[in-house]
Amino acid sequence: MASVLVVEDEGALNDLLRAELETEGHAVRQARDGRTALRMVEEETPQLVILDWMLPGLDGLSVCRQLRQRYLMPIIMLTARGEEVDRVLGLEVGADDYLVKPFSMRELLARTRAALRRVELEGRRGAGNSAQEVIAQGELRVDPSSHRATMGDEELALTPKEFDLLLLFVSNPGRAFNREFLIERLWGHDYEGFDRAVDNHIRRLRSKLGDFGEKITTVWGLGYRFVP
Ligand code: CA
Repeated sequence: MASVLVVEDEGALNDLLRAELETEGHAVRQARDGRTALRMVEEETPQLVILDWMLPGLDGLSVCRQLRQRYLMPIIMLTARGEEVDRVLGLEVGADDYLVKPFSMRELLARTRAALRRVELEGRRGAGNSAQEVIAQGELRVDPSSHRATMGDEELALTPKEFDLLLLFVSNPGRAFNREFLIERLWGHDYEGFDRAVDNHIRRLRSKLGDFGEKITTVWGLGYRFVP
């Protein structure tokens, strides 16, 4: 059971999505355009967003990009077009999954469950969680509770910000993070024009990780992604 925001301008489809999700026990709110969606997320952050690509005014891609500057909740995009470019674009602006219209409600609910399950798993091992489990990726071990990272037997000498970056990446494999989001995570709200600082942190982190550092890849025009 989760709080879900459905963003879809077609009223009938929006209502149908709401009904189906409520049957699953979710608490659903609805928006019919991008700006309203952004405002509603600010007011009360949902645990999952279902976001149509084609919206009047601010389109779904822009909404997704803006949400990703500040939020980590899963975003499932709905698109009428199934081309590869859509998939790549959607995932690179930070969507977690996408469905091509027309889709079955059963498929949508399955994807929704999968997305929420991933969040639950990440939450259990993510920073700020009581469990604070050690994350292992190959030779690398990242321990959120002690703020230590090791590669094989060797402890990595990471600054707190480098550690936070590494923890964020390994907690969210495959997810692209844009620079604005990383700035927000590392320095808080008030910093403008810190793109270069992010790049410098990533460069140092990569070099400290050795060959493993290559797994933190640059997403052209956006930011970075950890590819395990
Ligand atoms: Ca639409």
